[in-house]
Amino acid sequence: MDKLIVSTHYDGDRKKNISSESKTGQILESIAHRAHRNNERNAESRLEKNYFDNNSTTWVPPEIIKEFMRYVNVGNPSNTHHKAGRIAANAIQKARERIAADFKCGADEILFTACATESNNAVIQGIISRFMQKRKPIHILYSAIEHKCVGETISQIGKDSNGMVTFEEIPVDADGRVHVSQITDLIKPQTRLICCMYANNELGTLQPVHAIGKMLRKLHARTKQKIHFHVDAVAAIGKYVIHPGSFCDSMSISGHKIHCVKGIGCLYVSTCMTPFIRPLTYGGKQQVIRSGTDNTAAIHCMSKALEMVHHNRDKKNAHLFTLRRKFITNLEEEGDQIEWDILGPEDDTQVLPNTILICFYDLPKWENTPMFMCNLKLIKWLDEHDISASIGSSCNTKSKSASHVLSAIDATKEQKRGTIRITMSDYTTAEEVDYLTDVIIRFFQRS
Ligand code: PLP
Repeated sequence: MDKLIVSTHYDGDRKKNISSESKTGQILESIAHRAHRNNERNAESRLEKNYFDNNSTTWVPPEIIKEFMRYVNVGNPSNTHHKAGRIAANAIQKARERIAADFKCGADEILFTACATESNNAVIQGIISRFMQKRKPIHILYSAIEHKCVGETISQIGKDSNGMVTFEEIPVDADGRVHVSQITDLIKPQTRLICCMYANNELGTLQPVHAIGKMLRKLHARTKQKIHFHVDAVAAIGKYVIHPGSFCDSMSISGHKIHCVKGIGCLYVSTCMTPFIRPLTYGGKQQVIRSGTDNTAAIHCMSKALEMVHHNRDKKNAHLFTLRRKFITNLEEEGDQIEWDILGPEDDTQVLPNTILICFYDLPKWENTPMFMCNLKLIKWLDEHDISASIGSSCNTKSKSASHVLSAIDATKEQKRGTIRITMSDYTTAEEVDYLTDVIIRFFQRS
């Protein structure tokens, strides 16, 4: 069979001269090539079917790939002296306007980065750097369940700053929600930056970002203390149409969480706050606080993906909530021997429609495995059945301790060892949810 494939790939006139040694080489090469192709095909279908890790990354549908391909071979958007460059620059400007229309903000308030990690760092490090430049101390507050690219950035810089940068975590309640009154209590005269995500990527908990923004505006009007409010909207964007200018000073989103390619992020920064953010990269200033050649194809593609996810959003969210309830009902009806709990808010209005953080209490202990990683056994079982799910945020998969989000909500040891995250997308079907619950139930019946 492999030989046949070799002949279709390598046959022709050259065949007569091929020694048996080189033929073997070609056969091996062909097998490797075929395995690679199969793997690639499998990888693609893995994101298309039975894929429940959508808060980690999402499937890119053909229409978005097509949009991407339209702008792969264009000029450098910074060089508009020729047509090739102008085509790229125009595509970026249109994408910027498309996103600005979605965000209801000015096109000049939209910046492009490589990812949300970069966007969050650009704001946090940029603001800190301005304060350091003026030799002024700065105090920062961030929610205890921020993504690590926010929390670790602040704590690392703070630890290295000789006391110039101080910081505190805003505690969350058992559902992972911050409370405005607690933020008010933590604010100090030197507080200049508050970071609170729009929705948590593990629990799905929605945060009171509008109320926080309102409180900070009032504080500014009353005392003239201006605190920059930064919102990481990575987990929420696509599920809600968000107008950042109405409640925050800056907001980050990531393309690959909304069915766009990886390696592209977008940052909203209100024009009046841009001067207070020192650029992280120098050498071009293609965008006010960011240098480097823009990725035209990915930028265009992200603006299209944003348009696509927001089309018929209410209907899509209703579909996701139906699937969420179906998952729970299936477990209630067919998995009555299994003990489990959903972590995070029960109320649909307080949680992302696609996210389920579920804890199983009867997970078997795995030999030589730390307690908090027993959930991996279930994840592996799901993987063996071609289902992708995760034990939580991707940024924590290499960590040796349980997720900081679970610690922040005071999860018990049993909850830390038994929790997995199921995250759906607009493409998830009822049949896939049935299959998922069926495979989970079989795991417990077998063990
Ligand atoms: N913020 C949140 C809430 C996330 O879930 C993630 C990724 O998982 C990030 C930030 C980082 O996004 P990116 O992969 O674009 O750097």
